[in-house]
Amino acid sequence: MKSKSPKAKLFVFDSNPDIQAKKGLFEKVWKTNFPSQLEYIPNASIESVDVATKTMTFEVLPKLKADVLNIIPPQSCGPIASRAGLASVDKRWCGVDFLSYASLVQPDIHVLGDSIASPPGMPKSGHMANQEAKVCAAAIAAWSLGQAIPSMPLIANTCYSFVSETEAMHVTGVYRYDAAKKTMAPVPGAGGLSVAPTLLEGIHAMGWAGNILADSLE
Ligand SMILES: Cc1cc2nc3c(=O)[nH]c(=O)nc-3n(C[C@H](O)[C@H](O)[C@H](O)COP(=O)(O)OP(=O)(O)OC[C@H]3O[C@@H](n4cnc5c(N)ncnc54)[C@H](O)[C@@H]3O)c2cc1C
Repeated sequence: MKSKSPKAKLFVFDSNPDIQAKKGLFEKVWKTNFPSQLEYIPNASIESVDVATKTMTFEVLPKLKADVLNIIPPQSCGPIASRAGLASVDKRWCGVDFLSYASLVQPDIHVLGDSIASPPGMPKSGHMANQEAKVCAAAIAAWSLGQAIPSMPLIANTCYSFVSETEAMHVTGVYRYDAAKKTMAPVPGAGGLSVAPTLLEGIHAMGWAGNILADSLE
């Protein structure tokens, strides 16, 4: 947009009360790099969309017409999971046993990735889905061999965001099984956050993407 259509403006309407990840970093980049081109508006739940006139109606804000609308609908587990009766949490997400990713309502079905009900503080990402798959596979392998399943899974997340064609910034986290609460919980002090986006992190981000895609899909 900056190179092809510098007069255009991007409005980010968020139904959340605030930016959910890398808040300080995003705010700094937006202010520095896109001061008049990007505006973030929190608490902006959409009521309806008129596709013919490209107009959005909000619960509280005035209606808005734009040249391009990119609407992200309310998130939930995939329809195949709800149809199978797995959406046990708020009728939206699949509750699982975090030692095996077996569904809490249909234990012979394993669910991982975006469809699960994440514990507080645990992100949803391709990286997390990759890690959850390994915990799930290890549990199934142990069951198949008549062994006890690993009882203290430790998994990690890395999430890069590009803020220009070449510069990126990251957030990382490590999560451990909490046996008392039967859930995953962040390991205090084990994560990390960029100080600022850099070219080097842009290179690291491409390396991370190649590795995680190869590990997950090949
Ligand atoms: C814009 C964007 C940027 C992102 N950036 C990152 C990032 O930098 N790093 C990161 O780690 N994560 C990132 N994510 C998140 C990541 O893409 C998801 O967390 C991840 O893809 C979840 O994997 P999943 O397998 O649970 O679900 P999905 O990737 O959604 O896979 C589900 C699959 O199931 C298929 N499916 C659904 N129903 C059926 C059916 N009935 N029969 C057969 N197939 C079916 C779907 O077509 C789909 O292919 C990003 C997501 C978005 C939207």
